[in-house]
Amino acid sequence: MKLLIVEDEQKIGDYLRQGLSEAGFVVDLARNGLDGHHLAMTGDYDLVILDVMLPDVDGWRILQALRDAGRKVPVLFLTARDSVEDRVRGLELGADDYLVKPFAFAELLARVRTLLRRRGTEPAETTLRVADLEMDLLRRRVTRAGRRINLTAREYALLELLLRRRGEVLPRSLIASQVWDMNFDSDTNVIDVAIRRLRRKIDEDFSPKLIHTVRGMGYMLEVPDAE
Ligand code: CA
Repeated sequence: MKLLIVEDEQKIGDYLRQGLSEAGFVVDLARNGLDGHHLAMTGDYDLVILDVMLPDVDGWRILQALRDAGRKVPVLFLTARDSVEDRVRGLELGADDYLVKPFAFAELLARVRTLLRRRGTEPAETTLRVADLEMDLLRRRVTRAGRRINLTAREYALLELLLRRRGEVLPRSLIASQVWDMNFDSDTNVIDVAIRRLRRKIDEDFSPKLIHTVRGMGYMLEVPDAE
């Protein structure tokens, strides 16, 4: 599998190239938008990882050029935190997924593998759904049983992570790095407090319960078998 990374920040580019090579991919790295544009349009890649903020030709122009040319190669774009408009724009332009910087490499690898698996078969996911819980990624709206649920930005990010990785036990350390951009400090109960608040909003008045504590390991979102 051959991947193209377009990333102008040297450290991130090197880190991604090394990690993905070690994971068994053939990797080309473009360090500016012009080279990235050229390679994306002429190369035969299985997936493109595209930084949005590039000093010359930005990520959006590369994405648009790909889609205008009818190239369906999956595109995962990298966006800065808090740029909701960027995410909406990227998905509308035909990107398949995004990651917010900074991200954990394990998360990037998981997304890359998912995109490669479903390549060409499904349109970009804009709604995440488990039982009667729905998250509309474009409008950033959450409903349960049709009732609107208001979440803080952090709760939303936490729920999005749980939904994207439904059925997997997520260790606190992973949640900390994905949602708080911090290294996990076992003295802090910030994650447990946030989970409790989230449960109050999405689980307390509803059935079945979706957020589960896996003792000693972390948290998981799934529909329980028995209920
Ligand atoms: Ca950049």
